[in-house]
Amino acid sequence: MVDQPAGPDAGRPAATGGEEHAFSAEVGRLLDLVVHALYSEREIFLRELVANAADATDRRRFEALTDAAQALPEGAKVRIEPDKDARRLTISDDGAGMSKEELARNLGTIARSGTRAFGEELAKHKPEERSGLIGQFGVGFYAAFMVADHVDVVSRRAGTDEAWRWSSDGKGSFTLSPATREQPGTDIILYMKEDADEFLDAWRLEAIVRKWADHIAWPITIHSDGEDKAANAGTALWRKPRSEVTEEQLTEFYRHVSHNFDTPWATLHWHAEGTIDFTALLFIPGSRPFEFGEQVRESRVRLHVRRMFITDDAALLPPWLRFVQGVVDTEDLPLNVSREMLQATPVLARIRKAVTNRVLNELRTRAKDAESYAGFWENFGPVVKEGIWDDAEYRTDLAGLARFRSSTEEGWTTLADYVARMKDGQEAIYYLTGDNPDTLPASPQLEGFKARGIEVLLLTDPVDSFWPERLGTFEGKPLRSVSQSHADLEKFEAPLSEGEKAELDTLLPALKDALGDAVSEVRGSTRLVSSAVVLAAAGHGPDLQLQRLLRRSGQAVPDQAPVLEVNPAHPLIRDLAARVARGESVTDTALILLDIARIQEGESLKDPTAFASRLTATLTHVQGGAA
Ligand code: ADP
Ligand code: MG
Repeated sequence: MVDQPAGPDAGRPAATGGEEHAFSAEVGRLLDLVVHALYSEREIFLRELVANAADATDRRRFEALTDAAQALPEGAKVRIEPDKDARRLTISDDGAGMSKEELARNLGTIARSGTRAFGEELAKHKPEERSGLIGQFGVGFYAAFMVADHVDVVSRRAGTDEAWRWSSDGKGSFTLSPATREQPGTDIILYMKEDADEFLDAWRLEAIVRKWADHIAWPITIHSDGEDKAANAGTALWRKPRSEVTEEQLTEFYRHVSHNFDTPWATLHWHAEGTIDFTALLFIPGSRPFEFGEQVRESRVRLHVRRMFITDDAALLPPWLRFVQGVVDTEDLPLNVSREMLQATPVLARIRKAVTNRVLNELRTRAKDAESYAGFWENFGPVVKEGIWDDAEYRTDLAGLARFRSSTEEGWTTLADYVARMKDGQEAIYYLTGDNPDTLPASPQLEGFKARGIEVLLLTDPVDSFWPERLGTFEGKPLRSVSQSHADLEKFEAPLSEGEKAELDTLLPALKDALGDAVSEVRGSTRLVSSAVVLAAAGHGPDLQLQRLLRRSGQAVPDQAPVLEVNPAHPLIRDLAARVARGESVTDTALILLDIARIQEGESLKDPTAFASRLTATLTHVQGGAA
């Protein structure tokens, strides 16, 4: 059993039994984090509770479109009522409300990211940045416990006549008990802490609402001197002329719609008239949100019709622009637009196209400032590249906007610049994919290209294993993975000498014998310079990095052993050839060489123990020989 709230205190909720539920372990830790880490910015509890009330009202409005039983009452609003004598603050809404199960789930567990991750993020941010994390992690409600030592939530789900009371002191458990509420909606009742009196003052509350919630479209009132007084301007910010909107308001609005806490890298605010009529206020974030893009691949840009929020899942932008945040507000749809209608209407398709093109234009313009664009690209480049892969309509545009690391250039380069630098006689755009941006430039795969002065693009995002093949060509030049394009190098390379050829003729079959099915072929290659061996993909199968990615994600990979390429000019290979000629066994060395090639590729060894003992034996032999 967990302690019941100390009662019976004047104005306190009586601890009248009810069903007791423990918070999920995560919530318990989270409450501690929120209450302690964000103490210096306690006022944001109000922002979070008002935002929740507005969200719930939006939700009810939308649900009512298909379910008349949920219809919003006239004059729906968010009401804030301080009661100094009872030291109690109530935030009420006419929103969708919560059923008993929803109360337990929404206010007892954590829907989105884990507490650990939240704690780690908190530690990384300066105190003044921390408050934004609350919204980003979907844990805003718990901010109530920064100012209250007890919270009651009385809620009635729209369309039902049952109400429930959720009650907790934020210390491990909450209780659920039947309650009454005349109309659907929710009351959040805060029993304020001793040191939180300031939040019972109507002036103070109004200042907070103005600062944080002025852009909320529903009326917000604060009760004082016996009446409800309007506290927010309630005008849709995007409908105001740009000259009447301050930077601070824009940033605050951005933070509200995006749940981010940074400043936007780009703000796009425009009105389109003509065949379609809409206003858009869109933002490209200035930093990559935590865990961005891992859960949802759809754009969350909000659709409004004549200022009224309709939905945030109308996919107003393609998935590869899902980092763009904001609002599109149109006159061209009816206010009672239903989900089915949203799917069918040509209006949305037209808006989508216009908005997408506008964002791409902005990117093209901003790309001229290389340094600033590099920051954007580092944050969202991997997402944009998804579009080269899966959006035929925009593929070429996006390839032009993409930036790459390269084996010969500092910083970022473009495909167009690469093409301009291509060597005489070079036919293809070469690239190498891998995991690690730090080690990729030293990959043996590059040696032959480096030696011949051929530039190679270095690609390290998972999506890079997929898009080059889809893009096919850029400015007429084919894209080719270096691990599959050795034949091309022969144009630039000196052919093998007769002596080298003869050595290889005896060595290669011996190596293939020793390695058996572990390789599909052993061949000589002059693309190596300082390394003795390197792996290549066999035939026309997927390249090695793609095979690794597929295997890691549990997908089927064609079971084709790689090719081992050997460097005929390398002393070790020449020595091996000599040993084969003398009739000695080279099996152990061959196996070691194959494992070395695997390690250089970043693969794990099939049998590390065997590798270690073979290598140890060889080193012992070498040292013994030297002694
Ligand atoms: P978030 O708002 O990011 O989802 P919160 O911790 O602020 O996270 O709220 C958790 C959930 O509780 C919300 O998603 C919503 O489902 C529910 N909720 C909170 N406040 C209300 C309210 N006033 N009316 C209806 N549901 C609410
Ligand atoms: Mg919230």
